[in-house]
Amino acid sequence: MPFTELLLGPLSGIYFSSLILMMLILMLAMTVRLFLSRRKKAYFSLSLSLLVVMAQHMLLILADGSGGTLGYLALLLKAVSFILLNLGIYQLYNASRIRQYVLTYTAIGLAFLLSLLHVVFGGYGGSPEQVLLLQDLGVELYMFLVLFLCHQWITPFVGQWGRYQTGLTLYFIHQLLLVAHRYLFGSDYPLLSAASSCFLILYYASLFLILFERVVELLQATYNRSITDALTGMYNRRFFMGRLEQYLNHGVPVSVIFTDIDNFKKLNDTQGHEKGDEALKKVARILMELSEEVGISGRLGGEEMVVMVTDPDAHAGELAEAIRARVEAEAGVTVSVGYSKAKKGVNADSLVKQADEAMYQAKTTGKNKVCKFTRQKQALVNG
Ligand code: GH3
Ligand code: MG
Ligand code: MG
Repeated sequence: MPFTELLLGPLSGIYFSSLILMMLILMLAMTVRLFLSRRKKAYFSLSLSLLVVMAQHMLLILADGSGGTLGYLALLLKAVSFILLNLGIYQLYNASRIRQYVLTYTAIGLAFLLSLLHVVFGGYGGSPEQVLLLQDLGVELYMFLVLFLCHQWITPFVGQWGRYQTGLTLYFIHQLLLVAHRYLFGSDYPLLSAASSCFLILYYASLFLILFERVVELLQATYNRSITDALTGMYNRRFFMGRLEQYLNHGVPVSVIFTDIDNFKKLNDTQGHEKGDEALKKVARILMELSEEVGISGRLGGEEMVVMVTDPDAHAGELAEAIRARVEAEAGVTVSVGYSKAKKGVNADSLVKQADEAMYQAKTTGKNKVCKFTRQKQALVNG
């Protein structure tokens, strides 16, 4: 069967290495692109390590399983690239300092030293086959130590620790099968060797997922920053007004609740701007919690915060009163609240303005209360 021949035959090593090379090329394109646009060290380390892994697999293809100098170099590159790769993953989530570089280069240095062991053994007169076998064993066993250290030291610092651990486990199984095949079964079981290669492929797939997920996270974070207010975490004016306009355009009968902190200037003047900021954050949290299931809240600017009620079963007046009461009880300040229900044909700006007018009504009639917008009031205000 040609397919089993491909996986288990004499050329299977070349087949798997070519497959892995394809994956590496795709990942390299991604990390290089990211490095060019973001200049982050992580992408540099990752690109470099991917280049080294690629060189390793090209050497494997050239060596064609025959060991020798090419095989020796390939093994060394395997250790170096794996260490660099993990540095890169660490850097995806952390700023790297001297410590991480010292550890990385010490680990790489150790790999070099271990790979030179065969020279020592050679001096003691082992047969060339024995020497070759021992030369690889040192580095192959060393990989287990590296895996263990990555697991201990890097996992806690990687945002996607579950995925990272899965990756390490896949690599561990790959390495275990590889060493067992070579040193316990005398390289005589193609199935074992193919299984080992499959786990390596799965490992690179998991690496790809980690990278991909990180890019999505970064995009998401950039997007979130562009639609939220840094101090309170609420949606900003632009996003809030855009959403409100959307709902109104689709004919959803939304209500807007407008809140303004009472005597806030005085609080700032007497207790300081920081205390003021704290109160703002508390009020924002209350608004966000109370509106979570019935609509969207936002900060229009200053100490003016709004909620749009999109749930047709929710009652804006009750929600407004709940906000007022909780702020009074928990935030150390009070708010004046106004609300207005959308009538046909009203746009976002005028609906917010109506709620603002109702809030103004609350301000001028004693503060720390809720007022509803009505046409009469508008007539009163206008006239
Ligand atoms: P009123 O009861 O009539 O609303 O009185 P007020 O003092 O709250 O009056 P006004 O709404 O005009 O005051 C707004 C103040 O809010 C002015 C400014 O000092 C303060 N402020 C606006 N943005 C911030 C902010 O981000 N942090 C802090 N600490 N204060 C802010
Ligand atoms: Mg104000
Ligand atoms: Mg105010």
